[in-house]
Amino acid sequence: MTALTSTAALRETMGGHFHALGDAAVHKSAPIAWCTSVGPTELLRALGFEVFFPENHAAMLGAARTSQRYMPVVHAQGYSPDICSYLTSDIGAYLTGETPLEAYGLSGVPQADVLVFNTNQCRDVRDWFEWYGRRWNVPVIGVRSPRALEHVTTDDVDGVTKQIEGLIPVLEAVAGARLDHRRLSDVVRASRECSDLWEACLRTAAHRPAPLTFFDGTVHMGPAVVLRGTESANAYYRILRAELEARVGAGTAAIPGEAYRLYWDGMPIWGRLRALSTLFEEFRTAVAASTYCNSWIFPALDPAEPLRSMARAALELFIVRSEQPKERYIEEMVARYDVDGIVFHDCRTCPNNSNTRYGMPRRLADRLGIPTLVLDGDVNDLRCFSDEQARTNIEGFVEQLADARPAATRRVTA
Ligand code: SF4
Repeated sequence: MTALTSTAALRETMGGHFHALGDAAVHKSAPIAWCTSVGPTELLRALGFEVFFPENHAAMLGAARTSQRYMPVVHAQGYSPDICSYLTSDIGAYLTGETPLEAYGLSGVPQADVLVFNTNQCRDVRDWFEWYGRRWNVPVIGVRSPRALEHVTTDDVDGVTKQIEGLIPVLEAVAGARLDHRRLSDVVRASRECSDLWEACLRTAAHRPAPLTFFDGTVHMGPAVVLRGTESANAYYRILRAELEARVGAGTAAIPGEAYRLYWDGMPIWGRLRALSTLFEEFRTAVAASTYCNSWIFPALDPAEPLRSMARAALELFIVRSEQPKERYIEEMVARYDVDGIVFHDCRTCPNNSNTRYGMPRRLADRLGIPTLVLDGDVNDLRCFSDEQARTNIEGFVEQLADARPAATRRVTA
């Protein structure tokens, strides 16, 4: 795998985010809001909050493979091992008094003045935030979103817009500031630019060979998750886009000798990113695109209509939709990225972001005439993942790709 040199700038950008949160927590230089990954972050930034994203923190715990120590602490409090392992990892780490943010000088997660959720992705985020709300005795507010939408209607958008407007008085009281609508518009403009830049980065993988993979994307999406709406995220993605475009121009491959291309649907398996990335590289297979990395592309955001466009963006997301639009979306991605097959991750503790349980892999395989693979695993709980089984399944799947596309180059074994 050819490493991206932008990684140094990525580290600096993410470090800036965590240091700002650390300053706010210690010196009270700004109020702190916790926000779900696709929550109304633009509103929070416009009100002057430093914004912390616990899902990002949970992913860091998964990638560090420390989750296994933390989850049982929360299971012992009556939270089921079957619910979101992000939730149980994060709360378990808090109760254990440990965090990877120590590397950025923080002694713990920055305590929230308010927690703001959107249930567009799942109910777990609300339950997660309510645990901290009880602990710290601070407000927990949010948007209760409709789900499984076939079409996003004007009524749906009206309803969510009203709910976002309803958050403003509480947030103003916590922030001690009135919302400046021009500032909100500027933040939404910056957020839209972040979305466009991130999309441009991901789209470079439509070229053959792909200059980045899904596994690179899970790391480089950090600023799109935690810093959208800020210039520092946009500055970072200009650097990354330039590097990726240069790679396309030079024909530099993320996977040298790329023979096959895949699409990944579902959550990453954070504790096995490197192992899986190495395994696919062994088979000269580029996982060129994914629903997950695409989930931080928000084409609806519009500075001329900030709140309403935020509502629409939150409702048009893949995870909020029913099977039909999800299948149409994946079909479009299969064509755009010219992939040979689709890997569906059946994430044990995240049924919300697993599209394996109502027949979709079979339907898409039949309709598109390409193989699909369902990989059992979990976002953080590695008890649900078997290295041996994954290797056997992926090896068999690549053989299927070879049969389906005999002209493709031969598989390379270790
Ligand atoms: S979408 Fe899945 S992984 Fe994310 S918070 Fe909800 S249940 Fe957890």
